[in-house]
Amino acid sequence: MPSKTLKLRRRTQARRHAGTQAPLVVTIDGPAGAGKSTVAKLLAKALGVAYLDTGATYRALAFAVLQEHPEVLADEARLALMARYLPLRLETGRASSLRVFLNGVEITRAIRSQEISEAAAQVSQYPAVRAAMVAHQRALAGGRGVVVEGRDTGSVVFPDAPYKFFLDADLAVRAQRRQRELLELYREPTPLAQIRQELHFRDLVDQSRPVGRLIKPRGALVIDTTHLTAQHVVRRMLQRIGRARLS
Ligand code: C5P
Repeated sequence: MPSKTLKLRRRTQARRHAGTQAPLVVTIDGPAGAGKSTVAKLLAKALGVAYLDTGATYRALAFAVLQEHPEVLADEARLALMARYLPLRLETGRASSLRVFLNGVEITRAIRSQEISEAAAQVSQYPAVRAAMVAHQRALAGGRGVVVEGRDTGSVVFPDAPYKFFLDADLAVRAQRRQRELLELYREPTPLAQIRQELHFRDLVDQSRPVGRLIKPRGALVIDTTHLTAQHVVRRMLQRIGRARLS
């Protein structure tokens, strides 16, 4: 665990960065299950900056579509219109956890289902939808210091971010992590083979869409998290950020 002095120094650095130069923006991209959310929350906490999960914005859109207008799931123009006027609010709770509200109603847990995962991957294929969501994401970041995670955060949402990371891990390990998440959510196990298949499908969709596809952004540090704990990964990131700031 970092000492209190070290934590204080990091926070002061982050605030100083925000006060005198461009806000401290850190992007973390990678496939589902690579450990982005856990790591991004810990990193945001260590740096004393906000946390933004861009995947939650696509999930919220998917939720709204399935609930209100499932018939527009393949209609780019209408989806983009819904995306543009999506009444979305994100709130940071304790330990950088993120609460998601649609029209004032909390949907934090509801958007984590398999059904929403698949629908989010589907709606996020369309360039016009992505343009609207990227505008939301930049507005949600609000010009503050932020750790932002997703698929295109270093390449499209914040291409000028000073610190970029790309996390990856073996499919088998990613599937196990997702299985644990789903177990926490539903209190009953989902078969591993089914999760592997779903992740593999989402990888393909995320890597092959025309705009905002999952890529390693230029200048990003790639970290394979297969055999690393979240604390390990965060330490590596903090080293990179610290070193870059000193040079
Ligand atoms: O990160 P998460 O698994 O919550 O994201 C759900 C889906 O939203 C992804 O499978 C991906 O298709 C889409 N997404 C995206 N661009 C982002 C974040 C998520 O297309 N920046």
